[in-house]
Amino acid sequence: MIIGHAPAGYIAAKLLLQNFIRRGISPRKFLVVGILGALAPDLDMFYFYLIDHRQHHHHSYVSHFPILWLCLLVISLLWMRHNLSSKAASLAFIFCLSGFIHLILDSIVGDIWWFAPFIDRPFAMFTVPALYQPWWLNFIFHWSFALELALWVVALFIYRQRA
Ligand SMILES: [Zn+2]
Repeated sequence: MIIGHAPAGYIAAKLLLQNFIRRGISPRKFLVVGILGALAPDLDMFYFYLIDHRQHHHHSYVSHFPILWLCLLVISLLWMRHNLSSKAASLAFIFCLSGFIHLILDSIVGDIWWFAPFIDRPFAMFTVPALYQPWWLNFIFHWSFALELALWVVALFIYRQRA
């Protein structure tokens, strides 16, 4: 997934917002942290380009391991249950949930090492044929890009309903 992560984070945060307002959370902060969590796994692109020099698929880094985000999500849930009034716990939860959703979305047409570090094998729901150069044109001309655009349409629809 290329452009669909930010709207997916927004949609997830917006859908859950009502449950967190009673904790005194700032709606704006909750939505922004939801978007940041949705983008967070791809921060490994800095490592990919600047340090690893594109030697390994960035999805094979620990930052794209589902087990990492699942553990963070469980920890944030336990933190929230333990401290019902903690706003930081609520923000940690939406951050980690959006990060985990990122991996599900990446897995639609991208390789995700779902059982890493135990099994060194990537899984993808669908494959994108390599027909064009540069590589990203293959994704833009693939049907899955319509899903990315749909996430933007839904997010904009929800945003406009707010006003
Ligand atoms: Zn990613």
